[in-house]
Amino acid sequence: MVGYLLSPIYLMKSRLLSLLCFTSATISSLAADRPNIVFIFTDDHCEQALSAYDPSRMTTPNMDRLAKEGMLFNRCYVTNAICGPSRAVILTGKYSHLNGFMTNGNSFNGDQQTFPKLLQKVGYQTAVLGKWHLKTTPQGFDHFQILPGQGAYYNPAMRVMGKDGKEVPTKVTGYTSDIITDLTLDWLKEKRDDSKPFMVMCQHKAPHRNWQPGPDYLTWLDDKTIPEPDTLYDDYKGRTSAASEQTMEIKRHLSANDLKLNKPRGLNPEQLEKWNAAYGPKNEAFEKAKATMSEKEIIQWKYQRYVKDYLRCVKSVDDGIGRILDYLDESGLAKNTIVIYSSDQGWYLGEHGWYDKRWMYEESLRTPLLVRWPGTVKAGSRNEDIVSNLDFAETFLDVAGVKVPSDMQGRSIVPLLKGEAAEDWRKSFYYHYYEFPGAHSVARHYGVTNGHHKLIHFYQKEEWELFDLKKDPNEMKSVHGDPNYAAVQKEMETELARLRKEFKVPEVDPLRPKRQKKPKAVKKK
Ligand code: CA
Repeated sequence: MVGYLLSPIYLMKSRLLSLLCFTSATISSLAADRPNIVFIFTDDHCEQALSAYDPSRMTTPNMDRLAKEGMLFNRCYVTNAICGPSRAVILTGKYSHLNGFMTNGNSFNGDQQTFPKLLQKVGYQTAVLGKWHLKTTPQGFDHFQILPGQGAYYNPAMRVMGKDGKEVPTKVTGYTSDIITDLTLDWLKEKRDDSKPFMVMCQHKAPHRNWQPGPDYLTWLDDKTIPEPDTLYDDYKGRTSAASEQTMEIKRHLSANDLKLNKPRGLNPEQLEKWNAAYGPKNEAFEKAKATMSEKEIIQWKYQRYVKDYLRCVKSVDDGIGRILDYLDESGLAKNTIVIYSSDQGWYLGEHGWYDKRWMYEESLRTPLLVRWPGTVKAGSRNEDIVSNLDFAETFLDVAGVKVPSDMQGRSIVPLLKGEAAEDWRKSFYYHYYEFPGAHSVARHYGVTNGHHKLIHFYQKEEWELFDLKKDPNEMKSVHGDPNYAAVQKEMETELARLRKEFKVPEVDPLRPKRQKKPKAVKKK
C-alpha cells in the first residue's frame, strides 16, 4: 500500500504508477530518481548572525552560498520558539498541542506519524546525526548517531543506532560541530545504500548556550568590536509586566560559566591548554579592570564576550556546511539534492538586553531558512511570504512526491520554491509558548501576526500587547488599548480566534490551566 502516499502530480509523472500492484522493487526504482534531501539544522542560530540576512556582525560564506545559489526566506516564523518543541513540529507538521511536545520538559511520542517514517515507506534512506533533544529514541531512521539531551561542545557522549534500533552509548573525541559534520559526511560517503534516494538531518548543537567555541576560533574576533543593538539597554517600559520579569538579561543573568570566567567542563588536557592560552590573558585583564569599570562598561564587556563566543560557534557550523556542499559537488550529488538550512528558532543577540529565545517578538519568532535546489529554485531569489517550521515536513514529503497527510497543519513551500505565486498563501500566523514556570521565566503567551501588526496575549496574566511593526519594528511600545488602533485591535482579535479554531487549539492550556501570580515589583540593580 504505497499508492495513497504519492501526490497526484507524481502519479501523473510516473508511468510505472499506472500499475495497480506495487512490489518493493518497483518502489525503489520509483524512488531512485527522486531528489535527495540534506537538512542542515542548528540550535538557536538567529538571522542577526548569518550574513545573507545581516552582515553587520560576521560573515558566513557557506550559508551565504546557499542563499546565492538558492532562495532566502525572509519571514520564516516558528510556532513555539524553543528547542525540543520546534523539532517535534518539524517531524510532525503539527502544532505543539497536537504533537504533545509543548515544553522541553515533555517527551516525544515517537510512535506518531512523522515525515521520516513516510519517506522510508516510499524507499528513502533516512539518517539523523547530531542533536535530537526529544528524549525518546528516534524512529523512522535507517541510521542515527545523536547527542543525549543538550550534548557537550567537546568530546561528546553520543548514542549510536544499534541492531533492532536501540541506542548504544559511545563517546567521540573532538569538537562537536566538526564531529557532526564528519558523521554526516561519513554516512553520505560510506554508510548509505547508494541505490536509494536519501534524507539526512545534520543537526548541530551549536550555537546553543554556553557557546563554547571550537579550537580554531578561540581568539577569532579578539581584535573586533561587535556593534551593539539599539535596544541593549531596554528598560522594558511600554510593554506588559512579562518583559521585565524574565531572567535572560546580559546585565544580570549570564553566569561565570557562560562568560568563560570558569574552568570549562569536558575538555582534555590538550584542548584545555589551548583554551587557557586564549581565555587566560583576556580574563586576567578583565578581573584587573573590573573594579574601576562603570555598570555600563561591565554590560558592554559581557555583551562583547557573549556575542563573540556565539559568533565563533556559528563559524564552525558554517565551515561544516562548506565541507558538505563541497562533497555534494565532488560526488555529483549536488544536482539532484535539495539542501535546506534552518535553525529551531531565532535568538537575542543583545536585543532588549537579552540572550535566549521563547518570545513571540521578532528576533526569536523568526528563524533563518535557506533552500538550494538546482534546476528548481532560482539562484539568488528571495521570498517574503510567511512560511514556518510547521511547513517543513509537508515540504520534504512534497519534494519526495509523497502526498501530504491531511492531518498535518502546515503547507508545502514547493510552489514558493518554484517561484509560483500562491495567492491563497497564509497572510497571518499563530504562535504559542507554554514553558512557564521554566528556564528564563518567560510568561506563557499566544498571539497572531501578519507582519504588520502583532497581537500577543499573556493569558495567565490577562495582559495583552499590540505592536505596529512598521512604526515600531523593535517592539518597544505596545499600542494595545490605544483608541487609534481600536479597529486594528479588533481585526487582530478576530484573526486570533479564527486561527485558534483552525488549528484546534484547546480553549484551556492543556498543561496547567492556572492563573499566573501577580507580578512582583522589578528590582533595579
Ligand atoms: Ca533552540
